Amino acid sequence: MKNVVVLGSTGSIGRNTLSVLSDFADRFKVFGFSTNTNTDLLQKQIQRFQPQMVAITDRKGFEAFQKTDETEILFGIAGLKKLCSEPEVDLVINALVGSVGLLPSFEAVESGKDLAIANKETLVIAGGLLIRKAKEKNVRILPIDSEHSAILQCLLTGKKEEVRRLILTASGGPFLDRKKEDLKNIKVKEALSHPTWEMGKKITVDSATLMNKGLEVIEAHWLFDMPADKIRILIHPQSIIHSMVEFVDGSLIAQMSVPDMKIPIQYALFCPERLPTNNRPLDLTQVKNLTFEEPDQEKFPCLEICYQALEMGGTAPAVLNAANELAVKAFLEEKISFVDICEIVTATLKHHQVMENPSLDDILNADKWSRQEAERIINSRSEVGM
Ligand code: MG
Repeated sequence: MKNVVVLGSTGSIGRNTLSVLSDFADRFKVFGFSTNTNTDLLQKQIQRFQPQMVAITDRKGFEAFQKTDETEILFGIAGLKKLCSEPEVDLVINALVGSVGLLPSFEAVESGKDLAIANKETLVIAGGLLIRKAKEKNVRILPIDSEHSAILQCLLTGKKEEVRRLILTASGGPFLDRKKEDLKNIKVKEALSHPTWEMGKKITVDSATLMNKGLEVIEAHWLFDMPADKIRILIHPQSIIHSMVEFVDGSLIAQMSVPDMKIPIQYALFCPERLPTNNRPLDLTQVKNLTFEEPDQEKFPCLEICYQALEMGGTAPAVLNAANELAVKAFLEEKISFVDICEIVTATLKHHQVMENPSLDDILNADKWSRQEAERIINSRSEVGM
């Protein structure tokens, strides 16, 4: 019986994770979980799973919460860190959104817990440090992101030195077939309707700009120790092949399934074991066509900027990520246009003095600097009416 903590249990990945965990209640005990603001759902999850402790990161939500004797209620980032470091906990599943996931990830690894990670920002911002720390502490980092789960599965068919390249697939998002000049008039509502996956707002916008795929390149670089020039992106609108590995003998190994996050979540929980479930199997006669195309770098400049940040190294990916979080927020608040998102990220990165081999503190400082700089750029643009 493993004790599991789910950070971000009220989000899309978190809810799916609790559902998988309840399918395997004989193998896992839900020790604790957390939410930011969705305390109504948290209350229901507490009744259902009866965890030892939960954390609420939003102050108002925490203060208004009806406390009971059975479950300890923790507050803020300190609460998340406590959940990750309790001695009884065996596995932490980080399904937080954004860079708020960073410190809890490090706390889990530092405390010797295996970490299943859906919070890609942790790996983008500080992947090098986290992977090093995990080796030192002899803990496993398991990807939940569907692409990285696919690559992990494909890699099992060969040796590392036999890999020619990793191929990350991308649905292409809702604007795959739009003209470049139409993108600046995209409305928030349009950006929030993803063709194949149902996800939170931030990641849905990231999927529309293809920033999400660029961040996944950085994520793959750290998870699989692969240089940027060996990671390729291929647009595959059906989201059936979740990613592929090309080997030196010309073999291309792909992992396929219906687009359902329960499958990569379960793989992270049991990997490399596979257990039977009721997940819908893939019927290729229903899918009929699997299509592929090169991504349009001009229409989606976020891809190139992610490769550049990886090339720049050091604090650059952290700056890229923070500027993107700020820009996406400004877009959702209708302060900037859809195409401004990448322009703001690019401008912020351009103003940044990269620091090589940063410590966690250096990374946190770069993240803070980037938010201020992106905010400054956003405000100066709206002043001149751009
Ligand atoms: Mg993904």
